[in-house]
Amino acid sequence: MMFRIGQGFDVHKLAEGESLILGGIKINHTKGTIAHSDGDVLIHAIIDAILGAANLGDIGNLFPDSDSKYKNIDSRILLIKTNELLHKNNYEIGNIDSTIVLQKPKIAEYLPKIKNALANVLNIDANKISVKATTTEGLGFEGREEGVSAQAICLIYKK
Ligand SMILES: [Zn+2]
Repeated sequence: MMFRIGQGFDVHKLAEGESLILGGIKINHTKGTIAHSDGDVLIHAIIDAILGAANLGDIGNLFPDSDSKYKNIDSRILLIKTNELLHKNNYEIGNIDSTIVLQKPKIAEYLPKIKNALANVLNIDANKISVKATTTEGLGFEGREEGVSAQAICLIYKK
């Protein structure tokens, strides 16, 4: 079996009064992401990991933010399109691991829900997706609550 691996990374700015959506799940918080889309940093990192594994470019060239049809778009739709493209190229997802870097709020209680939501969107078993969260102990832009970042890694295999 042929395996390939890809990684993805994304950052969005945080601002008061915006909504914070991670893996399609709305997080209860006073701050949220400023973005052309819904600013779902986790889904964006996962999309780039999938695209990277299959060598299919990146989220920026597939769904350009200069295109008005992607304004405020639900990132789950972009993830579905990415998954379709992956299948068109005869690949399947082996597994995905991801980390959200966010100082506040504590999101541990959301993680199982996020994981299940992503498994549903990708139509894969929930044990193929891992979603973790960490803080930077107050250091850097995440620590100052100026932004949120996410990293993801994805293994794919040819059918
Ligand atoms: Zn993004």
